[in-house]
Formats: sequence, structure tokens, C-alpha cells
Amino acid sequence: DDLAELDARVSVCRACPRLVQWREDVAVGKRKSFADQPYWGRPIAGWGVAEPEILIVGLAPAANGGNRTGRVFTGDRSGDWLFAALHRVGLANQPTSEHAGDGLQLIRTRMIAAVRCAPPLNKPTPSERDTCAPWYRSELELVLPSTRAIICLGKFGYDALLAGLIALGADVPRPRPKFGHGVEYRILTPYGEVTVLGCFHPSQQNTFTGKLTEAMTDAVLTRAKELSTG
Ligand code: SF4
Repeated sequence: DDLAELDARVSVCRACPRLVQWREDVAVGKRKSFADQPYWGRPIAGWGVAEPEILIVGLAPAANGGNRTGRVFTGDRSGDWLFAALHRVGLANQPTSEHAGDGLQLIRTRMIAAVRCAPPLNKPTPSERDTCAPWYRSELELVLPSTRAIICLGKFGYDALLAGLIALGADVPRPRPKFGHGVEYRILTPYGEVTVLGCFHPSQQNTFTGKLTEAMTDAVLTRAKELSTG
């Protein structure tokens, strides 16, 4: 199908020399605790159901997380936090994400990253973001018809989403609403209406400091679930 074809094409992309080098160096070097595991070391396609009602968008895969497991938002602390929450609200079949063969499945949900290769220090450059944007837009276009709620994890994911929606002809309010946790508004797209929800990124910087709590995470996911059934 179209998504499978897109996944196949993105999985061999080498358009960003710095990111290609980094994703492959990390995969060869491996973190000690994962020394016995294979690393994906390539671009990360979207992951989850093919016709999602809920879309979760983020920044980029982590070097020893998604870049190892081949699935965005799994295999690192952010993924642990997110999947525990997804499981609590009934959007994942299990609360943990360890490796590619762990049986984890998303329910009614799909996840995509704005930049598909792990960047050093989790920071893609603006030019890397722009180079990857067509992959992101293509996937958005394929999943928007079924999507009712889009959760943006962090400001980078939020900005990339709005840029992608504008490029696809969506009616994004001007000035663009500012990113924040709990921000919620509707956008009319050529594929139907979606509600955009802001959520602080579940990085340790936010979860260790209490900026993002379990209750706050659950509230956003629950809201997305309500919107998707409404
Ligand atoms: Fe290709 Fe995107 Fe990876 Fe750059 S970040 S190499 S555009 S998949």
C-alpha cells in the first residue's frame, strides 16, 4: 500500500550527510548496555496503525532508542514514559518498549517524527529539518483522512506539524497559536477537521523536574481519545 511504499523509500534515504554518519556510527559503536542487540541505524518510518484516529508527532528518534529499535519513541526513557501512559489510557497493548521484537502495538494511534534520523544531541539543524520535511508531509497526507486528534510532543514537533499542515493546504489560524502544554484548537484541512493538542515532550529534563507529570500526560492522551471517538 502507499504507506508501505513510503516506508520502503524513506528507509534508504541518505540526504543528510551529518545524520547518516551519526546514525551509522552509533549503530556500530553501540551503547554498552545494548552491545548484544542489533541496531537499526537507518531512518525511522512512521509506526502504528495505518489509518489512525490519533497521531502523535515528535522531533526525531533517539540515538540509542528509535535508532536501535527501528521504532520511533521506543527503547529510551522518553519512550518508557510515553508507553506507560499510552497503556494506562488504552492506546497501547503493553506498558513497556524494549526492543523490536517485544510485541508492542499501538491502538488507534500512529507516531511519526519530523526528522527521521537520530541527530547528535537530539538537535537537527534547520536545514536537516527542511530536507526531511517532504517525507513528513507525504506521511501526513496519507494519514490525515482518518486522523481526528494530533498530539504534538514538544515545540519542535508542533512547529513541524503546523508547517506540514500549511503545506498541505490546511487552514491554520494566524498568528499561529503558541505551543504550550494543554493547548487545544481545531484546524480544517483538505482531508477533514483535526484537533491539535500540545503536550510537553516526555524527555527526562521535563519528567525528572516535574514539568511534565503522569497526570498531565494522561490528561492529554485521554482528551485525544475523547476527540477521536466524538
Ligand atoms: Fe533522509 Fe530525513 Fe534522514 Fe535526512 S533526516 S537522511 S532527509 S530520512
